[in-house]
Amino acid sequence: MSKSARVLYWFRTDLRLHDSPALQAALDLKPAALFPVWCWDPNYVYKHRVGVNRFRFLLESMNALSERITATQSNSQLLVVRGEPTELLPELWKRWNITHLVIEKDPSAYGRRRDTLIREAAKKSKVEVVAVQGHHLFDPEEVVKRNKGKPTMAMSTLQKIVSDMGDVPKPLDAPKDLPLPQLKDSKSKTLKDLLAELADSLDGLPHYTGKGREGPASVDLNSTELDGQRDKEVTCYNTVNGEAAELFAVPTLESIGMDASKGRDTIKGGEPLALEKLAKICKDAEYVATFAKPKTSPSQSAEDPSTTLLSPYLKFGCLSVRKFWWDVEEAKKKYKGGSKTGPPENLNGQLLFRDMYACAEHAIGDDFQRVRGNEVCRYMDWYLPTHYDKNGEVILPRPPGDAVSEARLSAFKLGQTGFPWIDALMRQLRLEGWMHHLGRHSVAAFLTRGQCWISWERGAEIFDEYLIDWDPCSNPGNWMWLSCSAFFTQYFRLYGLATFPAKYDKTGALVRKYCPELAKFPDKYIYEPFNAPKDVQQKAGCIIGKDYPFPMLDEKETKGENMQRMKICYQANLHGTSKEVLDGKADDM
Ligand code: FAD
Repeated sequence: MSKSARVLYWFRTDLRLHDSPALQAALDLKPAALFPVWCWDPNYVYKHRVGVNRFRFLLESMNALSERITATQSNSQLLVVRGEPTELLPELWKRWNITHLVIEKDPSAYGRRRDTLIREAAKKSKVEVVAVQGHHLFDPEEVVKRNKGKPTMAMSTLQKIVSDMGDVPKPLDAPKDLPLPQLKDSKSKTLKDLLAELADSLDGLPHYTGKGREGPASVDLNSTELDGQRDKEVTCYNTVNGEAAELFAVPTLESIGMDASKGRDTIKGGEPLALEKLAKICKDAEYVATFAKPKTSPSQSAEDPSTTLLSPYLKFGCLSVRKFWWDVEEAKKKYKGGSKTGPPENLNGQLLFRDMYACAEHAIGDDFQRVRGNEVCRYMDWYLPTHYDKNGEVILPRPPGDAVSEARLSAFKLGQTGFPWIDALMRQLRLEGWMHHLGRHSVAAFLTRGQCWISWERGAEIFDEYLIDWDPCSNPGNWMWLSCSAFFTQYFRLYGLATFPAKYDKTGALVRKYCPELAKFPDKYIYEPFNAPKDVQQKAGCIIGKDYPFPMLDEKETKGENMQRMKICYQANLHGTSKEVLDGKADDM
């Protein structure tokens, strides 16, 4: 490739320098200039509802990436620009004489739609697009093609397909050098001068103005209201009267309208931290070789997790999933006792689940997020279903549903259901943006087929708002699984609201941590304080019904009713159910 290639490298799902096949493809072009860009996309920032913890993690990861870029090439940094990418990038190509746009493939439905438009714009601008898979173990596009366009509804299906696709590619090293982000006839010698030149080149760039949602998600545990929709006019500026360095800098939480005092930064972002954590995990060869997901405890908090807690880093691409895979393989070899577990329970199996949902979503598209039109999702007559207008758009703000279900959904979200296990998990989610997988099982089953009979879409929305690791494939996929709407059919398997957590921790550590008003209850009543005699409640300094709510429903009664409903729905409706599921070959985890 000639020295005249000028690359705009657009970071999206890959906030890292190590094992980035897309970045390597950019460097293989031997470019004369490389502009490392992050585009602050209003579709993500404003139209999508995102809580403060996810934003904080993203900004930390962007800052870490920018520092990594500068450490590799002292006259470069992440160039943050703001606006609708389909409008903004063509302007940058023109102003920066770009010949190539290089991206890691974003296989989600929104990512594909956006990238189709980008490709059309690039064609018009005579910019060549190089898109490389690196976000999953295997390319979802290729897997779906090999599955004849069908979604992968079981781990066994995915494993069968990828067994013909060769090994997961070995990870690549981070580049030792990066080309400068410089204009064609630049004479600049310093980063400051380069940025000033680039800032001048943005003069007159249009602002994005449009409807969006703004403001922090409330994590006020005492609030009794659901966080409202925040539709308002927003403007994204690229030209400000600040310094050039400030112009391209990673924004602060405050500057994007988020309240930094909300949430808790228990889980910090960035590639260096991700690599450090992975190295620490893999140093413990026994932990890796004997990892079995059902045996990990959901009652351990994010400060001392029983699983890897690497999901946020995979979500933003701070960690390469291929490196995760191969480091696990290496660690297993070092364990003298041999590898004790296999997929789907072991760590490799967990990563394959991530691929399975990505490939399912890839085949279904946008409808994977919802009940309506989703060919794999079984229809249930859930309360609080999603309503659509005549164009098929979701109606927002939502028309109110029945009062009981609305109140239950609100209590669920706020961690005020009166069931300490559910409340502790939901408060952990809202406060810190993460929850153990089996905790997610508990709350998702509770909200849907277990107790509340509320549509899984509403639960998925709450997760979307608060999870740092929120993923457009894994989130709806797992919600469908837990509500027995797809992937999993054993609806008679439920999680006791006291018996399930007690299997892992009789002392109720998670409850004591996130529901401090219950902290002084003896172990015997920690998951069922409503059964404690009055004198025990008084001694614990917490009167049920006054200092902590009564249970909002009867666990056994609702379980029985919902089991009947599930039975009827299953008998009446096989809509979209895949053959593997009907044959009972779906995996249980
Ligand atoms: P580990 O057990 O250490 O697993 C390692 C990695 O494997 C994870 O980081 C994750 O990337 C992947 N993984 C593990 N289990 C799953 C799974 N069931 N599905 C997909 N990937 C998996 N995971 C997300 O990454 N984003 C989501 O939005 C999400 N929503 C979920 C919603 C519900 C209702 C449920 C039940 C699960 C959801 N999960 C989601 C899956 C899973 O709970 C998390 O990936 C996991 O808890 C993250 O913690 P970890 O990194 O310690 O996982």
